[in-house]
Amino acid sequence: MIKTLKGKISIVYLVLVVLVLVVGMISGINMYYLSKTIDGLMIDNYKSIKAVNLMNEELENQNNAILTFIYEDKQTAIKQFNQDNSVFYNWYNVEANNITEKNEGNYVDEIKSAYVNFTTSVSYLQGMPPDDKVGMLNYYNMKIKPNYEHIKDLLNSLAKLNEDAMFKKKTNATLDAKNSMYTILLVTLLAAIFGFIISLIFTNRFLKPMEYLIKSIREVKEGELDQVISIKTDDELGKLAVEFNNMIRRLKQYEESQLGKIIDERNKTLSIVKSINDPLLVLNSDYKIILLNGAAEELFGIEEKNAIDKHFLLSVKDEKLFEQINAIVDSKFNINKVEQVKYGDKYYDVTITPIKNYKSEISDILLVFHNITEFKELDQAKDDFISIISHEFKTPLTSIMMGTSMILEEKIGVINDKQRSTLVAIEEESEKLTELVNELIELTKIESGKEMYNFKCCSIFGIAQNTVKPLYNIANEKGVNLTNTIDEDMPGVYADPEKITWVLNNLITNALKYTDAGDDITISASVDGDFMQISVKDTGAGIPKEYKDKIFDKFFHVQNDDEFEIKGTGLGLAVVKEIVEAHGGKVWCESDIDIGSNFMFTLPICDERG
Ligand code: ADP
Repeated sequence: MIKTLKGKISIVYLVLVVLVLVVGMISGINMYYLSKTIDGLMIDNYKSIKAVNLMNEELENQNNAILTFIYEDKQTAIKQFNQDNSVFYNWYNVEANNITEKNEGNYVDEIKSAYVNFTTSVSYLQGMPPDDKVGMLNYYNMKIKPNYEHIKDLLNSLAKLNEDAMFKKKTNATLDAKNSMYTILLVTLLAAIFGFIISLIFTNRFLKPMEYLIKSIREVKEGELDQVISIKTDDELGKLAVEFNNMIRRLKQYEESQLGKIIDERNKTLSIVKSINDPLLVLNSDYKIILLNGAAEELFGIEEKNAIDKHFLLSVKDEKLFEQINAIVDSKFNINKVEQVKYGDKYYDVTITPIKNYKSEISDILLVFHNITEFKELDQAKDDFISIISHEFKTPLTSIMMGTSMILEEKIGVINDKQRSTLVAIEEESEKLTELVNELIELTKIESGKEMYNFKCCSIFGIAQNTVKPLYNIANEKGVNLTNTIDEDMPGVYADPEKITWVLNNLITNALKYTDAGDDITISASVDGDFMQISVKDTGAGIPKEYKDKIFDKFFHVQNDDEFEIKGTGLGLAVVKEIVEAHGGKVWCESDIDIGSNFMFTLPICDERG
């Protein structure tokens, strides 16, 4: 019994090769017999006909020699007769040795005895008186001529016998050729049918288990791990089936072990979530609560069993927060967003974190409520303090500036140059102090979260255009080339346009402060993954490497040589950082002394064009 698939296929091939050989052999044998028939036709009968014709010729010559003997030269005639006699016997022997047909032998024997009679009577003629021509002619007519004609008849009959045989053989050969053709055609047809049936049977036998295997693999792909393939052959397919079954068994074990691990991990995560003190909720993409901890139950006055699988708004009746969650999910970005909410007399920072699945789609949303009431109270106290101080500063500052201005305008009395220059210095410092107080009030507002953001999908091109327009004049006056290269077709950004205008304004104003006539300031934007990167690049003074990060700290100024005096409050970039980070972006700077600075920040891209 052949066990391998290779062996089985080889057997099928072998059968087909044997079939081809059988067809070949049958064709060969047929051809052999056909050629044999044609040979007989061509050689044997033809040889006999030729011998008979030549015998006939010699006999006629001999007959002529006899007449010559009677009427003319006897010597020559006898010589001629004897010569023809030996040639006749030569051809007679050829024919006598080439008897192929029935009756041919009888003819040959009869010819011999008739010929012997013929030559005997000729010998008698030679013995007759030479001058008795009449007697000789009578003898010729009576004895020799009838014999001569009898031999000729026999020779003609013999020739005809062979001609008939030749014709019959030709007819037989044609018939044989036809039969051979039919036999070969029949054998070829039978061989083809047999070969086809054999191939069909074997192909089916080989492919059936293969189809079964494919079907089983498909079912396994669909997750049917209880599959067992039963192909009970010893060939490669049988071995494949055994290996396949082993693989499914291992897969099932693996799945069970993975499932166990997943359950363990889930239990672990659940325990961690439950033990967290901050209220925590997880929503699915339909905004239904799928997980919550005890602190959340307490905060929202709900029970887990009633809240699970119910819409967020049924448990947490905060539509404003829901809008924020919605906006984040709609923006499709993986940004953590912190929202401030107030429930009762408590403040919470709500961190909204979209969780993406392996297809990078938002599958869940994690909400963590961090109680900041204590900080809020302290912050409030600080804000109140700064606010009070700032406002307390503002009134005396206004009085100082008004008073200084009146004295400088000499409305109170004449002043000398020394007094004037002192008063100018007082006025400048007062202006700086006013700017500081204003920016301090702004920063306090942003940091405290009092400053509410109005996020929407907007055009960075539009924001940049609006920001740059009023600054062209200042740039022109300084001789600085200010260019906005942002393309109108850029995707929209998810941002508060007012705040981003403020950020850009601050960066461009800084660039204007630290550039000279002939310098360039270029605003550009490019897409970087899910974010838009906006850059404000100048060819101005630049910033020493060691200060690159520090400049975003509050009240920080680069210690410059006297080329540039300190021109600001040191709060601008701190506010820029606060705003950009509140958008889920980041801000940084690349700079080289005397070559220039490039301030860059990112904002999330939104789907619609702004
Ligand atoms: P200020 O109100 O002093 O400009 P900022 O926070 O805006 O405060 O800037 C902090 C410091 O960063 C500046 O004092 C300056 O030394 C440096 N700086 C900011 N922008 C540039 C710039 N484009 N070129 C050189 N230095 C800069």
